[in-house]
This record gives sequence, structure tokens and C-alpha cells, in this order.
Amino acid sequence: MKTIFQKIIDREIPAMLAHEDEHCIAIHDINPQAPVHVLVIPKKLIPRVGEATAADQPILGHLLLTAAALAQKLGLESGYRLVINNGRDGGETVPHLHVHLLGKRPLAWPPG
Ligand code: AMP
Repeated sequence: MKTIFQKIIDREIPAMLAHEDEHCIAIHDINPQAPVHVLVIPKKLIPRVGEATAADQPILGHLLLTAAALAQKLGLESGYRLVINNGRDGGETVPHLHVHLLGKRPLAWPPG
């Protein structure tokens, strides 16, 4: 069964697109936890970072560089946070790897 993100990639359900290229899309989160909350999602289905392989190294790097470029584009010059939730205790709810880009407010540490 397709994940919600695969359906968005395949244009079966709508999303607010922030970026798209050959390897990934970025969408605005439907339930934002900060004024800017974007998800950077590989087009390749990697369920979670713990299941990525050495062959995925270029795409993993691409996700981070894309998130950093989006942070600049979205005006997050005062700082931002990138988050990858992995597994149940990590807070993962969609089993399709994604990098959260959060910004435009001070972010507390440690996270909850
Ligand atoms: P995670 O809990 O790390 O797996 O993150 C999944 C994220 O996907 C959550 O922040 C959700 O709010 C977000 N999300 C779920 N469905 C959608 C959707 N249809 N469009 C945009 N974001 C979504």
C-alpha cells in the first residue's frame, strides 16, 4: 500500500509544494509545529533512515542540502532545525523517510 507521501509524489492527493526536483519533493506540513514547517521527502521509498543503505548516501546528502537551500529561500536566517523521526519511540508516523525543516520561532532544547 502506498504511503500518504507516495500518493502526494504521484499527485494522487494534493499538497502545498515548496520544492520539487528529480530526487525529492518538499511540502508544507499539514499540521505545522512552527511558522515554517516543511517536509523534504525522497521520491525513492526509503521507509526510515534506519533502513537506508550505502546506495542511498547521495540521496541522503541531497535531502540535507535541499533542506538547507529551502531554509535560505524561506528566510530562516536566524536559525532552524532539521528533524528525522525514526520508529515508534522517535515519533515516526509516516513510514516514508522525510526531513522536517522547522523555523521562524525559537525552538526549545531538549525536544520532547
Ligand atoms: P513523522 O511523525 O515524523 O512521521 O512526520 C509525519 C508528518 O507528516 C507530520 O508532521 C504530519 O503532520 C505530516 N503529514 C501527514 N499527512 C500530511 C499531508 N497530507 N500533507 C502534509 N503533511 C502531512
